[in-house]
Amino acid sequence: MMESRGLDQTEALTSLFWSIRLDQDARWRAEPLDVWKARIVSLVPQAEGWLQQIETGDQILTARYGDVRQWSWHKEGLVLLGDAAHAMSPQLGQGVNLALRDASTLAQCLERYPMSEALARYSAARRLQLTYYSWATRGLTPLFQSDFDGLALPRRWVFRTLQHLPPARWAMTRTMAGWVGR
Ligand SMILES: Cc1cc2nc3c(=O)[nH]c(=O)nc-3n(C[C@H](O)[C@H](O)[C@H](O)COP(=O)(O)OP(=O)(O)OC[C@H]3O[C@@H](n4cnc5c(N)ncnc54)[C@H](O)[C@@H]3O)c2cc1C
Repeated sequence: MMESRGLDQTEALTSLFWSIRLDQDARWRAEPLDVWKARIVSLVPQAEGWLQQIETGDQILTARYGDVRQWSWHKEGLVLLGDAAHAMSPQLGQGVNLALRDASTLAQCLERYPMSEALARYSAARRLQLTYYSWATRGLTPLFQSDFDGLALPRRWVFRTLQHLPPARWAMTRTMAGWVGR
């Protein structure tokens, strides 16, 4: 669950993400909403008030995601940015950061170089960061979204331990801030 403010900075907004496999979506939608709400309240009792606002399944959107992998993000006269270039699981929450960085890098390349060179410069400049985040996301997704419960304990142990080791904490913070490979 994520709290934020609207663009006018006054209205408080809450986003609730419930992660399930796409092939379970129809089954989940066929269940009474109260069963789902009771499950959430058992995990996060603070959610009870917010959940009262959800009265029908139509208020809940199904957001899909998939992996898009490329080794280069341009061809002559064609360039890819954002999810079209590198959609990935929202595991590290970097999709918007990466898309904005793509846009600013492309703008700088177009400003400095002729089109024939600018797109190749853009692909080259984005390679390190995009490769790092797509591999890190792909590597972490099975740990966080697997159906195999046996992974939960090692995951908790590893990440709880790593956060107390300064070099690992430094690397994890930079990763979550979108700074690696800038
Ligand atoms: C469940 C979920 C949670 C996420 N959480 C986070 C997060 O916490 N932090 C984060 O940074 N990122 C998150 N992301 C990823 C983030 O949403 C994307 O990386 C980001 O929106 C990519 O921006 P984009 O502009 O490339 O693509 P989009 O935001 O998908 O924009 C593409 C636009 O093009 C439009 N379009 C498509 N086809 C056509 C067409 N033929 N003609 C005209 N228009 C068209 C679409 O309607 C859309 O408006 C999440 C994604 C999902 C699915």
